Amino acid sequence: MQKKLKILNNLTVLIRKPGEKTVILLFFILSIYGFFVFGVENDTAKLSIRIIIVLLFLSLLYLRYRKYEFFEEINNKNKIKSEKHNEKDDEIIKRLADQFRIGTETDSEAAFESYLNGLLLIINSTFVGAASVVYLVYQDKDTLIPKGVSIESEKSFNFKEISTDVKIINEIFKKKEVIIKNKLSEEEAACFFDNGIGSIKSFLGVPIFIEGEIVGIMAVFSSTKGAFGDGDNDLVKNFADVISRTIVNYNSIVESETNTLLFSSFYEISKGLNSNLKFDEIIDMLVNIIKKVFEYDRISLSLVKESSFIAIIKRVVGQVDEFEEGYEFSLDERLNGWVIRKNKPILVSNLEKGEYFIPRYTKKEKINYDLKSFISAPIGYYNKCLGAVTVESKKANIYGGRHENVLVMLANNIGAALERSIIYQRLESEATIDEMTGLYNYRAFKFRLYEEINRAKRSKQNFCLFMIDIDHFKNFNDEYGHLVGDAILKFIGDSIKSSVRNIDFVARYGGEEFVAIVLTPNIEDAEISAERIRGSIGDSNYKIDSAEYHVTISLGIAEYSGEVKDEEGLIRRADEAMYKAKKTGRNRVIVYNEEDFN
Ligand code: GH3
Ligand code: MG
Ligand code: MG
Repeated sequence: MQKKLKILNNLTVLIRKPGEKTVILLFFILSIYGFFVFGVENDTAKLSIRIIIVLLFLSLLYLRYRKYEFFEEINNKNKIKSEKHNEKDDEIIKRLADQFRIGTETDSEAAFESYLNGLLLIINSTFVGAASVVYLVYQDKDTLIPKGVSIESEKSFNFKEISTDVKIINEIFKKKEVIIKNKLSEEEAACFFDNGIGSIKSFLGVPIFIEGEIVGIMAVFSSTKGAFGDGDNDLVKNFADVISRTIVNYNSIVESETNTLLFSSFYEISKGLNSNLKFDEIIDMLVNIIKKVFEYDRISLSLVKESSFIAIIKRVVGQVDEFEEGYEFSLDERLNGWVIRKNKPILVSNLEKGEYFIPRYTKKEKINYDLKSFISAPIGYYNKCLGAVTVESKKANIYGGRHENVLVMLANNIGAALERSIIYQRLESEATIDEMTGLYNYRAFKFRLYEEINRAKRSKQNFCLFMIDIDHFKNFNDEYGHLVGDAILKFIGDSIKSSVRNIDFVARYGGEEFVAIVLTPNIEDAEISAERIRGSIGDSNYKIDSAEYHVTISLGIAEYSGEVKDEEGLIRRADEAMYKAKKTGRNRVIVYNEEDFN
């Protein structure tokens, strides 16, 4: 305790009050001047200057220490300043966090059992079991004792202590794997309970590990034959993992009313892990659970940007401040970065220390937005840290070790699902992005056009399709070579993209043709933006290795309206308009007009 307090004191010394340095500096300068009074010969003048200096300094001191509110008013927002320490920041932050940790954990066996029972209730209903049980290995290691049970209503089973020599149990210990018996004999069933034996037909047992050692077994019994399949393995292992964590966190089980929520949370997460949820859906799921389980003013989730030392805030719920979605921060700095870098949770009961605070994202943080309690856990996948989830509250001291454990469990369980969705997203992007230009490809365009047409039908809001083709590009390639041609294609893609708005959609249609879905119902506006594209390409040169190249494009516009039947119809119209632009001299924009083309 002494040691910790010492660290705290050091920190306080390092963080100085605003204005204090100024006062000291002024005092120093004025004292020197008061002593020598350069350039003044007259003794009376010297004395008066000295008196003025003393008075000036006394009034400064008065303002500084007596009327502190005055400074407070001037500094207002700056009152709470970030600390400036550099040495061993991480150590200090972590120990500071330790210092503030509050120990209000429940430590009762009853709470533990009720937690287990609740969890088993969910397991039982998930697997449509007649009964589920958690056995823990007793000290002498040869006996398993039932610790938590859940039995389907209207049924009753008396679970017995069971020897590890029993064949099925022994098999689990040996194989260290999920064991399924879909035709359980009466003799085998009799090892587990002494009543209702005949009604049990299937068995599923999963080992519960702590640091590689089997510490117990979770078993589900069903009254139907062939109740379990290999598909249940992952889900059941997940539950075993949750039980394992529960045992590890035995001393910090949450209060009973939170239990119910937690049980269903873990259940939801387990389900999520086993289905192909999209990235955003997984984040939503986690955030929704946290919303239910924690008292909070702000929840945020950050993910590491691939192969970088930077994380990006992906989701913020609750209080909005400068650290909004999309904000990027270095893992080198402050609490959130620390959690990701070290792959360890952190809990701070009060971010505020007197007039100062512990910054959350960056050294430059100026205000703490009144947030006091802070708790953050790494989102992990095996040994890799994908990011962190952080819960904050304006109330101080509201989170304890048990909250930390719960957040750690939630974040841990979400890791695998997130990793999978990230991989999935990457595959998806590879399938929709054109490698050469970085624009969307033909497939993505067709999909988007289909969506836009449906949206337009519903909202009665028309939009325009641009078909863009480079003029005489064959000749260009012949003259300068394909490599230069490729570079030009990329430049043109960029020019088109930067000539339309963010909400518009640009894709490479194929070869030297591009398309843009421009979301304006007004054909005049569409023409303006088409003309902007044409000009950005045709009215300037592209520079490659100090040589300059000039290309032009022809652009056809077709407006989606009720007369257009489908995607093909719209593409055909844009195409025809584009060919008309070619025929009438190239380097121009032509709008499709029904009469002209019939
Ligand atoms: P215009 O459209 O004005 O009638 O003449 P054009 O020469 O552009 O017409 P055409 O459609 O016959 O030729 C398209 C040329 O675009 C053929 C090919 O050399 C070039 N091209 C298509 N895809 C690529 C590509 O990926 N890279 C390069 N460098 N050239 C390409
Ligand atoms: Mg072409
Ligand atoms: Mg062409």
